[in-house]
Amino acid sequence: MSNTAREALVIVRDLVKIYRQGRREVPALRGLSLDIARGEWVAIVGPSGCGKSTLLNLIAGIDRPTSGSVQVAGQEISALGEEALARWRRYNVGIVFQFFQLMPTLTAVENVELPLVLARRPQGRKRAMELLERLGIAHLANHLPSELSGGEQQRVAIARALANDPALLLADEPTGNLDSESGQQVMRLFHELWQAGHTVILVTHDPVIASWAGRTVELRDGQVARDSLIAPAAPAAQLDSVAALGKPRRAR
Ligand code: ADP
Repeated sequence: MSNTAREALVIVRDLVKIYRQGRREVPALRGLSLDIARGEWVAIVGPSGCGKSTLLNLIAGIDRPTSGSVQVAGQEISALGEEALARWRRYNVGIVFQFFQLMPTLTAVENVELPLVLARRPQGRKRAMELLERLGIAHLANHLPSELSGGEQQRVAIARALANDPALLLADEPTGNLDSESGQQVMRLFHELWQAGHTVILVTHDPVIASWAGRTVELRDGQVARDSLIAPAAPAAQLDSVAALGKPRRAR
């Protein structure tokens, strides 16, 4: 089945990223092109240093390319100024990291509420509590991250990533710091979110984790070496408990 038949949510063209270390240039991406359709779950795999995190950060608008283009839902994100890019990120992407990156002085519910506060959404606390409840950790709402296990912290981080109903859910080695059981639970959660209609891009070096995704894009030396579609995007949002978290924003 061809990917081009479906609406592309992410269009990456001729993407180049060169890091500079003193006088040395480190090419991380060397003219990479990739389309990701709405509703797909894509695993980005490849050996350490092949450019996976760099690609994810450029799609997320966390970093800027040296040249080339990243469009998400029709928006050329490299064309945005700093403030506009920060605002765009807030509404369009949710990101989950290996080391959770929760604010250590905020409770679980305050961490989830933070993006809602920044977006000046009304009733942020109520939505944050709903998200924690759907992820099965409402009872931990008033705990600090240091009082939670790794798996619990990652659930809080996933709830935070979903707070503003982003079009794109991105994850960089989300199970890399978890024991295998917590890792499985987190992957099950991503699976449910994907079934509920979210578009998921997940970076991993682990083939077992990658096998959860419907499509695997393998990078080598900053380029796509292999692109294998195993299963098409979830056919339709299923009305399960996670769907009730709110459908991802259908950005136009
Ligand atoms: P992966 O996620 O596949 O391990 P990365 O995207 O992190 O790969 O890195 C790709 C290449 O870019 C590597 O050679 C890495 O050392 C280099 N790199 C990544 N980030 C930086 C940085 N901030 N400064 C300099 N080099 C970097």
